[in-house]
Amino acid sequence: MKYPWIDEYLLSKHGVTKDLQAEWNWIRYHIGGKMFAAILLDENDQPYYINLKLEPMESELMRQQYPDIIPGYYSNKQHWNSVKPDGAIPDDLLKHWLDRSYELVLKGFPKQKQREILGLSVCGTDCSACPLHGSVCTGCNEACGKVFHADGKACPIYACCDNKHRFTNCASCDRVPCEVWQATRDPSMTDEQFRKSIEDRVSALKSCRGEK
Ligand code: SF4
Ligand code: SF4
Repeated sequence: MKYPWIDEYLLSKHGVTKDLQAEWNWIRYHIGGKMFAAILLDENDQPYYINLKLEPMESELMRQQYPDIIPGYYSNKQHWNSVKPDGAIPDDLLKHWLDRSYELVLKGFPKQKQREILGLSVCGTDCSACPLHGSVCTGCNEACGKVFHADGKACPIYACCDNKHRFTNCASCDRVPCEVWQATRDPSMTDEQFRKSIEDRVSALKSCRGEK
């Protein structure tokens, strides 16, 4: 196969699990229990197709433009596509399609569930990494932003992102990191710690969108 990076690339995405469907000999990649990509293996365990999902219109356009992407083998042919693993699709284009497939399946879940799958709060924080998580605090997603230090109100970032804009997270907003982020600075942080916290959260949010 021309794309030796594919397994690592898919597993680097938030919330992705994989299994082997032994009967079909497909390596399947799931998010929230739903498949978004698969590597189809022949009797010698060599890939013969990579299956991924695209919007029907995009599928149609891509199939016209590139002979190495065809209607999904053993799949819904409107939504699924099969890419030949030894064809001429450039790496960057295949990565883009895999990102699109991941996003399409992720967006099929309610917002709260998407955040749960991603393991990130609206601002890109991984609350499970906090020592207070599970004792003093249930985490931002579970508390709908009303975390233990927010005086019974939703954190301003949560209120803006979810309650006002109805975004899954701030990755959908072109103002990130905005003045609301600046205003919610933990006063115990040094300038350097706060700068790093913003950098880490923005980076986590970008990785949800397939940007590195
Ligand atoms: S800063 Fe606000 S939105 Fe981010 S994790 Fe904390 S409470 Fe949630
Ligand atoms: S304005 Fe700020 S807090 Fe609101 S959605 Fe955009 S980045 Fe998030």
